[in-house]
Amino acid sequence: MRLNDNPSLFNAAKNSNLLPIYIYDNKNQEKFHIGNASKVWLYYSLKSLNNSLAGKLHVYIGDPKKILFELIKTNEVKNVYWNECYELWRINSDNQIKNILHKQGVTVKTYNGSLLWDPKKIMKNNQTPYKIFTHYYRKANQISHNPRNLFPIPNKLDIVNLKIHKNNIEDLGLLPKSKWYKSVISNWNIGEKEAQNKLTNFTYKKMNKYKMFRNYPSRQYTSLLSPHLHFGEISPNQIWHSIKKLDIDENISQFFSQLGWREFSYYLLFHNPYMPEKNIQTKFNSFPWNKNDKFFNKWKKGITGIPIIDAAMRELWKTGYMHNRMRMITASFLVKNLLIHWKHGELWFWDCLLDADLANNSSGWQWVAGSGADASPYFRIFNPITQSQKFDPQGIYIRKYIPELKKLDTKYLFKPWEAPITELKKANIILGTTYPKPIIDLKYSYQRAMNSFKSLKYNSLKI
Ligand SMILES: Cc1cc2nc3c(=O)[nH]c(=O)nc-3n(C[C@H](O)[C@H](O)[C@H](O)COP(=O)(O)OP(=O)(O)OC[C@H]3O[C@@H](n4cnc5c(N)ncnc54)[C@H](O)[C@@H]3O)c2cc1C
Repeated sequence: MRLNDNPSLFNAAKNSNLLPIYIYDNKNQEKFHIGNASKVWLYYSLKSLNNSLAGKLHVYIGDPKKILFELIKTNEVKNVYWNECYELWRINSDNQIKNILHKQGVTVKTYNGSLLWDPKKIMKNNQTPYKIFTHYYRKANQISHNPRNLFPIPNKLDIVNLKIHKNNIEDLGLLPKSKWYKSVISNWNIGEKEAQNKLTNFTYKKMNKYKMFRNYPSRQYTSLLSPHLHFGEISPNQIWHSIKKLDIDENISQFFSQLGWREFSYYLLFHNPYMPEKNIQTKFNSFPWNKNDKFFNKWKKGITGIPIIDAAMRELWKTGYMHNRMRMITASFLVKNLLIHWKHGELWFWDCLLDADLANNSSGWQWVAGSGADASPYFRIFNPITQSQKFDPQGIYIRKYIPELKKLDTKYLFKPWEAPITELKKANIILGTTYPKPIIDLKYSYQRAMNSFKSLKYNSLKI
């Protein structure tokens, strides 16, 4: 979704008579159909790309195999270029397309446009993939300390004027009928130019405090680049080179390591294509998960009675985004305190996040559950009270998303059920009426989780 640093566009542009196309594949997505929030982003992102191409982007909906076959049959197509994707269903579909095109005598050229390091190229000495982040990251940095140089916007784009059927972006049916998305999307500026502006702003105004403040959700010291990265409005290489211009310090190392986690998620997905659906550590297959729709729905709606959890779940619903630390705390609450399978949480995030990303989302959930590669250990159960006291000490974030607790003294804000009745009255709160009582006792559920997870008998990492 960008013209800058786009290897396939750069190489394609060496030819004349280009036809830039986008195919919305609604046939091969299997289980992970693009989520509702992501569809909205995609709509605006396509609009922005089409503007950059002076309205000459051709969009299609359907099975890319058929669409490309038709295009090739009716036009003199000699070369097809694209940037690679790393999800299993896309790899399968891309391979089939390559075969079809080769049979038609068409040359196919594909490039890595979305990762710093090709997952195929970073292997242990015995040619097996890494399972531990630090080992992977060290090797990646050894192999290519500096990611490749950037591709400029092509000097000229000689776009052909074909008189063939051309859909409108509206025809893709990406926007929902209900208008919920309007307020969600009003928090964001979408497209390549906006991604660049955000990067510049982050590089020069926030980077120098990234390490200190990145964990505080009310401070907004992270880059908020995740949806732009996911949709390819900006490349990790552009981000890397922009940040690298600064003098390297601990903020930058920390930020690069977060980009490294993104790379590692893609690496894990590439080498474990079933990661979105299956535990990477198979001993979790027999874990006694709870099925509790009532609790799951309260978690989704942000009415669990635990303020930091509710604030975060409401942030997700209202803005299409959730701060990283909050993703960890809410996921831990669902998986460990409520013992609900990580797959349910993964699917909810998948539908609501504007940055919903198969690699990052599934690896994030498996990390929290403890079932992933290099995952959080079983005894790491985030305590929502201490986490909120530490990372939202004045309750700014909680008050922003839970206005019904706005007037409660900070001393009681993190656990209103312990507030004396006089304090609740002063703040106009009736527990169980204006704000829920906690759905579960935190101490009891902590102990229960410890016992259940211990029963898995943690051996060495088996993948
Ligand atoms: C349960 C769970 C689910 C998640 N689901 C997603 C998802 O669907 N899509 C997604 O992009 N991220 C996901 N993450 C990772 C992380 O929360 C987001 O990438 C981050 O919050 C995005 O905000 P930012 O761009 O301001 O991050 P910054 O702190 O500015 O980081 C810069 C970039 O590095 C990458 N990054 C940062 N942290 C992580 C991480 N822990 N793992 C992988 N990559 C990271 C992202 O691409 C991010 O844009 C998930 C994390 C958890 C714990």
